[in-house]
Amino acid sequence: PIQPTSKIWHNGNLIPWESATIHVMSHVVHYGSSVFEGIRCYSQPQGAAVFRLPEHMQRLIDSAKIYRMALPYSLDELCAAVVDTIEANGVAPCYIRPIALRGYGEIGVNPKGSPIDIYIANYPWGKYVSGGDAADVCVSSWNRLAPNTMPALAKAGANYMNSQLIRMEADTNGYAEGIALDVNGYVSEGSGENVFIIRNGVLYTPPLSNSALSGITRDSVLTISRHLGLTVIEQTIPRELLYIADEVFFTGTAAEVSPIRSIDRVVIGDGKPGEITKRIADEFFGIANGLKPDKFGWLTPVKVG
Ligand code: PMP
Repeated sequence: PIQPTSKIWHNGNLIPWESATIHVMSHVVHYGSSVFEGIRCYSQPQGAAVFRLPEHMQRLIDSAKIYRMALPYSLDELCAAVVDTIEANGVAPCYIRPIALRGYGEIGVNPKGSPIDIYIANYPWGKYVSGGDAADVCVSSWNRLAPNTMPALAKAGANYMNSQLIRMEADTNGYAEGIALDVNGYVSEGSGENVFIIRNGVLYTPPLSNSALSGITRDSVLTISRHLGLTVIEQTIPRELLYIADEVFFTGTAAEVSPIRSIDRVVIGDGKPGEITKRIADEFFGIANGLKPDKFGWLTPVKVG
């Protein structure tokens, strides 16, 4: 459950958490018309810092553009709003949830006439994928969004109806998460994570053309891996390559870098987090937790407490 904080940012003002409500007849409630972000702020020895804030807020702007939602704030203003919200609430580590939605005004499918409301909330949050140090997952019977149906590059509320089907099915069948294939049967992504495999020392992840979200953690792992001198290939991945991979892991703001132990009860490698996964995770957590230099400029410091 969410642990409420004091304030939520709404269209330029910090309002009480309890006042951040919307009307049941708002466009978003009926048609899923929202775009949002999920961002982490880490505690560090030096204080606290938001991980890749501009990249997340740029993706919010991009998601809004795809859905023809005009956001009346610049990238800098949106980033400053996130920092203001965190500093007003004084909570770190935390999860940050900016959302732009079509509000109360029109109730027809055409959103013309519905106002756009932007909110930014933050609250304390811990680990996501359950299952100790490695997760048992399945390949979902649900496919990811087919091209030219729902735009997979937009992080839109409505896309998460598909994610919910993937996640609920996995949960019902006793798995921590599901990996969805794209409309052509190639590996796409988890319900809320990108997926990487390692085979013979080479790192593979599906390209965005396989209906995967342009994950910020995915990008971080690609950058870290290249920096570590690993060979990284963005390439279409057939389902069966999952089973014969040496290592498989998820990436995401919530999942961070999460090793996978088995897929459809087929044990991956020796069933333990792999050496390459551990090297990448070490770099990732080192930077995020402020224990290694921020050599890629990924951190935005915030003042809490
Ligand atoms: N795919 C989906 C469907 C997601 O919801 C997320 C979480 N935003 C990701 C991938 C991972 O993206 P990121 O690393 O930016 O959190």
